[in-house]
Amino acid sequence: MIMEKTQENRCCICGRKFIGYGYNPYPVKEEGRCCGMCNYMVVVPKRLNELYKRQKNRKK
Ligand SMILES: [Zn+2]
Repeated sequence: MIMEKTQENRCCICGRKFIGYGYNPYPVKEEGRCCGMCNYMVVVPKRLNELYKRQKNRKK
């Protein structure tokens, strides 16, 4: 039985170690995984920003 929850990863944004699968850092980084903190503080705002820009362009 594989205990994936205890797997240790390194955040590709802040460089800290975290336990677990982590989060997809796209569009901040194209590879690796990021920690929950960076996901909420960096990745999600960036993602929303990109989405907003794309929608704005589409209206023109
Ligand atoms: Zn991080």
